[in-house]
Amino acid sequence: MFIGVGSNLGDRRNHINKALAGVRQHIDESARMSRLYETEPRIDEDQPAFLNAVIEATTDLPARALLGRMLELERSLGRQRDDGRPKGPRIIDLDLLAYDQDLINEVGLTVPHPAIADRGFVLRPWAELAPLFLVAGLQSTVQALLAQCPDTGWIRPVTKRTGHKVAALGAVLA
Ligand code: ADP
Ligand code: MG
Repeated sequence: MFIGVGSNLGDRRNHINKALAGVRQHIDESARMSRLYETEPRIDEDQPAFLNAVIEATTDLPARALLGRMLELERSLGRQRDDGRPKGPRIIDLDLLAYDQDLINEVGLTVPHPAIADRGFVLRPWAELAPLFLVAGLQSTVQALLAQCPDTGWIRPVTKRTGHKVAALGAVLA
């Protein structure tokens, strides 16, 4: 499965490191991560730039339970939701992008994540890790989705190497 991670408030790298440490408890030891990218805020544009990355991992948890842990982790890192500003600034955002080839449409859980095709800041790091992964429902590879993505927001890598083990990340992002 793939998880997208983002932050645009306070010490963004620190928030992402803490989120990775939390996610690590639920995924395999050889889980990998894309480079970290700095990206332009989209939709709600009057907010600080984001840091974004994508993780590829396997997990023993079913999708629903995994998302539950991810949302708990967001709360424990201090994320507060502003209902008037759904795409506003956030300390941490953890999205379940895809879970194998599953198609899930439940209250509070849609997999693959519904906004994937429109988000360059998700597709760019994802395509680095798994260009040929077929996204269920869309019947396209990540690489093809990136090539067709209409998002014109700027995206620039701020770390050097892709494919780092999530287990080694503290050092990578420090
Ligand atoms: P977004 O990440 O799209 O900007 P939020 O992080 O505010 O939005 O998430 C809002 C809600 O989306 C969460 O409470 C969660 O229940 C729901 N949701 C549905 N599907 C997913 C998914 N695949 N990954 C993450 N959240 C999801
Ligand atoms: Mg989210």
